[in-house]
Amino acid sequence: MKRIPCFDSHCDSVSKCCYSGRHLFANDREISLDRTAQFSRYVQLFALYWDTAIPPERSVLHEYERMKAYFHAELAAHPDLAVHCRGRKDIEAAHRDGKAACMLSIEDSSLLECDPAHLEMAAADGIQAIALTWNYRNAVSGTCAQNPEMGLTDRGRAFVKESERLGILMDVSHLSPKGFWDLFEMAERPIVATHSDSDAVFHHRRNLTDDQFRAIMESGGIVGLNYFAEFIGGTRDIPALIRHLEHFLELGGEDCIGLGSDFDGCEEVCHGIDTLEGVPNLWQTLENRGYGESLLQKLFFDNWMKRLHD
Ligand SMILES: [Zn+2]
Repeated sequence: MKRIPCFDSHCDSVSKCCYSGRHLFANDREISLDRTAQFSRYVQLFALYWDTAIPPERSVLHEYERMKAYFHAELAAHPDLAVHCRGRKDIEAAHRDGKAACMLSIEDSSLLECDPAHLEMAAADGIQAIALTWNYRNAVSGTCAQNPEMGLTDRGRAFVKESERLGILMDVSHLSPKGFWDLFEMAERPIVATHSDSDAVFHHRRNLTDDQFRAIMESGGIVGLNYFAEFIGGTRDIPALIRHLEHFLELGGEDCIGLGSDFDGCEEVCHGIDTLEGVPNLWQTLENRGYGESLLQKLFFDNWMKRLHD
């Protein structure tokens, strides 16, 4: 099979591997960085995540530092295979050198204590996107799972303003519907959903309604398709995932859709894309359905690249 590009906007591999004593390379999980040479170009956003229902040993910020240190130590052990990238130029350099481009994001602003004052540090660390919430309500907003009627708080608005100033993308996956529309009202920069599917295709609180998808497009943002079987619904396989993609395409999303696997973050992944090695199966299936090379390049890589800063 020919080598395809892959830009994946969400996985939980760093948080999972960091706390289970595994490596990001040569592991038995869904993403193992030694197996990325199958792609012509590969970018992975690694989300830093801490389950705030579990009291941290010292503080959540300490866990942020722990995961960050783990990420850098893992990459330092294999400098020939992968490198940390802070923007588009870094990615291009990584690919010229034949390396996997690894980036950081945050899932749940609680990891920064919902404090805008910590965002400068996050930006300096190369954080590309921050999900305002995970499933638990926090000081910034309600979520799709808890207090969905609760929108952005004053602190949430301050958090958004400062993130935008620093060029960090606001990620609405997991956010409450009210929080989503509050963000849309105030946002001056593109809104992204790093790992979300279509609610019109399969109703789930984590999926995006058509109006939300249109709003993301209007903001200049992008949605990364999630491979989690529970969100895909139906037959939970590649054809079922393609129904989400094609619904977004019907809404005019050709330039606003990418990949957002949720690898190492969900119990049951889309059948046929069980690990990173399965991603070419999605490309092949789409090619068999008549998708042209330029559309596939957009969906698998170029659309996400356009949302990054240099
Ligand atoms: Zn998630």
